[in-house]
Amino acid sequence: MHYETAPAKINLTLDTLYKRNDGYHEVSMVMTTVDLNDNLSFERRKDRKIVIQSDHQFVPTDRRNLAYQAAELMMERYHIETGVTINIDKHIPIAAGLAGGSADAAATFRGLNSLYNLGIELSELADLSAELGSDIPFCVYGGTALATGRGEIIERLKSPPHAWLVLAKPNISVSTKSIYRALRPGKNKAASQEMKTAILNEDYQSIVSALKNDLEEVTVKKYPEVKKLLENMRVSGSDGALMSGSGPTVFGICRKERQSIHLYNAMKGCCSEVYRIRLLG
Ligand code: ATP
Repeated sequence: MHYETAPAKINLTLDTLYKRNDGYHEVSMVMTTVDLNDNLSFERRKDRKIVIQSDHQFVPTDRRNLAYQAAELMMERYHIETGVTINIDKHIPIAAGLAGGSADAAATFRGLNSLYNLGIELSELADLSAELGSDIPFCVYGGTALATGRGEIIERLKSPPHAWLVLAKPNISVSTKSIYRALRPGKNKAASQEMKTAILNEDYQSIVSALKNDLEEVTVKKYPEVKKLLENMRVSGSDGALMSGSGPTVFGICRKERQSIHLYNAMKGCCSEVYRIRLLG
């Protein structure tokens, strides 16, 4: 039996640069892992099957699960003939902009590497994982990184200074595809380089000033409840607030623990799903 934790990620920035000929948007984003994890276990089987187990009613246990697809790709690419049972103890909210499925897939690449004693470098796993999804290579490494291309080119960064986050998820699902489809890229100032410098300088104030997500404008227009949550985060004592990924989860960042407790309590009054966690990096 082997165990892996699969931390969620948030975007500190998400710059959409232009639409490419292959249909993807060229992006530049700084992402960081947060202290909100799925827990996965991996056990060898006597047959050659991939079996996914989860108690969570919305986690698919068939081929649609990204962890299944990751296992299938690993077994095919490295000629593995022993099956695996993967148990997913789900804590990351689903379809939230927190890359829960990608985190589980990434944990599966790492987990099978250990379970089958393959000794593959993380960079090779990350390259392979890009075939499944643009956010997975970042999740293979975890930590903090600047991601470019369609998100799969990873430059690892040091961790941002210690901070607290309050996450609030409105009770709606947002389709990432539909948000990108409605996006008109090009006119926004790119913030990721600024964020990278702020992190390198360990400058908390500059990190807060550089928070920016080009998808926020699009999601907020479609879903007024996201706008309301962002406004509440901003007036309830956070140092800064932003939507993660294509939403709908928004986060407020706080330097001090007491400040985050205050913000958490304030947000509890207007949203049913609220988390107070550490920024891990
Ligand atoms: P992203 O931030 O990368 O856009 P997300 O956090 O918005 O992702 P996910 O939680 O990854 O979204 O899930 C999106 C959909 O993917 C779900 O509706 C679910 O059916 C499917 N899915 C596939 N594998 C998983 C998994 N391991 N955990 C949760 N959902 C999964």
